[in-house]
Amino acid sequence: MTNIDTTKPVLVTGATGYVAGWLVKKLLEEGCTVHAAVRNPDKKEKLAHLDAVAAKAPGTIKYFKADLLTPGAYKEAMEGCELVYHTASPFTYDIKDPQKELVEPAVQGTTNVLETANVVPSVKKVVVTSSCVSIYNDATDAKDAPGGVLNEDFWNNSASLDYQPYSLSKTLAEKKAWEIAKNQDRWELVTINPSFVLGPPLNPTSNSSESMNILKQMGDGTYKSGFPKLSVGMVDVRDVAEAHYKAGFVPQAKGRYITSGHNTDFYEMGMALREKYGDQLPLGKGAVPKWLLMIMGPFIDKKLSRRFIKNNMNVPLKLDNSKIKKDLGMTFRPMAQTMQDGMQALIEEGIVKTK
Ligand code: NAP
Repeated sequence: MTNIDTTKPVLVTGATGYVAGWLVKKLLEEGCTVHAAVRNPDKKEKLAHLDAVAAKAPGTIKYFKADLLTPGAYKEAMEGCELVYHTASPFTYDIKDPQKELVEPAVQGTTNVLETANVVPSVKKVVVTSSCVSIYNDATDAKDAPGGVLNEDFWNNSASLDYQPYSLSKTLAEKKAWEIAKNQDRWELVTINPSFVLGPPLNPTSNSSESMNILKQMGDGTYKSGFPKLSVGMVDVRDVAEAHYKAGFVPQAKGRYITSGHNTDFYEMGMALREKYGDQLPLGKGAVPKWLLMIMGPFIDKKLSRRFIKNNMNVPLKLDNSKIKKDLGMTFRPMAQTMQDGMQALIEEGIVKTK
């Protein structure tokens, strides 16, 4: 049980990010003082959406410069904070060297932030943004789970630098977080493990998250021949922010939390877009057959390797979200709202063009 004083500043690492943007908004609207740690505070265009939110909210925002790979970089931003949100970690498939570009920032960054918590006496709780990819690698992993349902007891044990390196980075980073947390007893660790996050970005034009690339692909004709039944858990970015907020401020929040609204697949997500944009966007009507995706997948997207398609297409995925509903009282938005609000934001910014 950890009670957080709402009048103390709250640190958010990676505050420029897609997920962090909505968390910072929530904190500012609740009247918190947010210490926003960003890689480069001089890039004003990456902060404009946060400044706009802060201008209308009762809380205040203060920026700090910090890079995950610089030891001690987060100390100044953490001073005086009881609550630390560690969201910063690269989420991209556009990489050449997975060790350097994904694993090192994820693991060294988590080590850096949590070791800083060890030397900043005000810290009482750290909420780390992990992922459902720390729980499973492929939908086929559910075969080892009772009733085929994956819960917080599971760990991804098959990601590697060659196959799903982003998932490897998140798994190793979360394991490191628990290791550091267990070696001390002043602050508590809680992890939020979101599935695939979608929904409207606060900063559509300056966003590096892979979520945005995939949403853009769903509207730009990449799937005009049909959507694959590739299984995925999905959750609205606004619900992910709410989950972070509750994990921080609900005193009994404890352990890992699968943060996933829906067990679904790309076909169902595509159909949710067709409901609203069937006449305006080049959206496929049906499901792409597995054999076709096996041939075409690797050309559409690097992530769609044949192994990935084999292990995730037409394989049901069941992520159990009951713990976060019970402990933190979370509810999740309907999938269609998430898909349509997200696409609408990209259309309004001219990132996805309508006919
Ligand atoms: P994002 O928009 O790309 O945010 C990533 C953040 O990490 C950015 O603020 C980025 O800063 C920061 N960052 C990256 N490398 C850094 C470095 N070396 N030093 C300091 N900051 C660095 O992606 P996102 O989707 O919001 O992801 C945020 C978190 O959620 C990540 O931990 C991700 O693994 C997790 N997550 C995301 C999803 C999803 O579907 N989106 C699902 C589960 C978990 P810059 O702006 O300077 O690049």
